[in-house]
Amino acid sequence: MNFNTSVIEQNRFKDIDFLIKRDDLLHPDFSGNKARKFAWFLKEKFPDIKRVISYGSSQSNAMYSLSVLAKMRGWEFDYYVDHISSFLKQNPHGNYLFALKNDMNIFEKPFPKELPQNSLFIHEGGRQKEAAYGIKILAKEIKEQLKDNERVDVFLPSGTGTTALFLQKYLPYKVYTTPCVGSETYLKDQFSLLESDESLYPVILNSKKRYHFGKLYSEFFKIWIELKEQTGIEFDLLYDPKGWLTLLENIDIFENRILYIHQGGILGNISMIKRYERKIDEHNR
Ligand SMILES: *Cc1c(COP(=O)(O)O)cnc(C)c1O
Repeated sequence: MNFNTSVIEQNRFKDIDFLIKRDDLLHPDFSGNKARKFAWFLKEKFPDIKRVISYGSSQSNAMYSLSVLAKMRGWEFDYYVDHISSFLKQNPHGNYLFALKNDMNIFEKPFPKELPQNSLFIHEGGRQKEAAYGIKILAKEIKEQLKDNERVDVFLPSGTGTTALFLQKYLPYKVYTTPCVGSETYLKDQFSLLESDESLYPVILNSKKRYHFGKLYSEFFKIWIELKEQTGIEFDLLYDPKGWLTLLENIDIFENRILYIHQGGILGNISMIKRYERKIDEHNR
């Protein structure tokens, strides 16, 4: 199966004229950078594989995307988590609910040291060399779609950094990113697991304030609402607010029009919005 190409649109936010690659619109069930990162596993023949095994958090976008991949391929999907909150067990929602609907088998324990036969193991968040395949296609689309050979500065927020790293490898433009999951050092360590040549790494930008992944910040929710109002686009609530805040803080360093990569993850917003609303309720009580 092949995806359609996603469009590049022009938009404006806080007086900044920018371009945006709409990878959130790639496919209704399998979108964003996880579709790119897992494209190889959709395309390759795996005659002996019957099961895909991974691990991570109980609301992860990668978890949901793997449940879609497994369903499309007719594989079992075993997913290992440290912990599922009792609230989530009693009120399944978001990525967790939709992955369960795709028949995910979820286990609250460490993943087995010995993998069962005929299984495919995927690292947390899809940090895999195989991701290069789909991200190379993304880079090719971008090069073909930019009109009049416009030069751009590419920006995207990182988790494992896999998408940013491979985009920098395959694009003739500078790629800028910011770490959302850990520190700059963590992000560089992630890059080094996939690429030893540091000259091929994206430029890492930081925000003045340190943020912790998955925590709620009023400025995150605020910028997410402003983005929706001014651009008409729904961004993700885990990565994009840190991305946009960092981009605005560092706006002076960009030399060309920015091409922002929308990496999907909208399904994950359901649980994040619920958490923000509960926080606002508590605050107003
Ligand atoms: C997974 C994800 C990321 C991080 O991608 P990496 O390749 O791990 O850096 C960013 N944004 C969204 C919406 C995601 O789902």
